Amino acid sequence: MKIIDISWPISSDMTAYKDKKVVAIEHTKIFERDHARESVLRLGAHTGTHIDAPAHFLADGALLDQQPLANTVGPCTVIDMTHINDCVDAAALQACALNASDIVLFKTRNSALAATAPFDPNFVYVAADAAQYLVTCGVKAVGIDYLGIERNQPDHATHTVLLGNGIAVIEGLRLAHVQPGSYFLWCLPLAVQGVEAAPARAILISVRGE
Ligand SMILES: [Zn+2]
Repeated sequence: MKIIDISWPISSDMTAYKDKKVVAIEHTKIFERDHARESVLRLGAHTGTHIDAPAHFLADGALLDQQPLANTVGPCTVIDMTHINDCVDAAALQACALNASDIVLFKTRNSALAATAPFDPNFVYVAADAAQYLVTCGVKAVGIDYLGIERNQPDHATHTVLLGNGIAVIEGLRLAHVQPGSYFLWCLPLAVQGVEAAPARAILISVRGE
């Protein structure tokens, strides 16, 4: 079984959305002094690889702890969108074979950016008409290889269309080392209670028997 880690490495110098740095890793016990090592982490809920719950942008949306883990576990297709310069729109998706109940991950030129690079405001995002198209296809979850799935769209249309139709949103994936194709995804959020998002570890399992 081949495990491919597609999680964004968490560190105090990692890329932060709009460069709002909130990650702090404090080593409260060091071995030379305390004969043990302990650390305290301070993280935003949207740090690195994370899952957004409907409550992120919907007034009555469910919190992350009210969402089934099955939303982000299952058969998955990594789709090559590295030729896209600006946004993944419905026209770009119409050329792809999307399966209902599938989890769809977009590999874009975003994945070529270093994990500690300054925030790129021109990152490739998913347009609202693509979100609508994904609803029509009946996919289960959508993932993107940057810290947001949309830039500054009015009314957060991409998020609200996806989350409002029960499609999970995974942001902050790292896909440069992943061949497009079919996999099995495990993406499990930290079990934080009462929040709209949480960091997650995401791995792909190759289904081609490698
Ligand atoms: Zn988010």
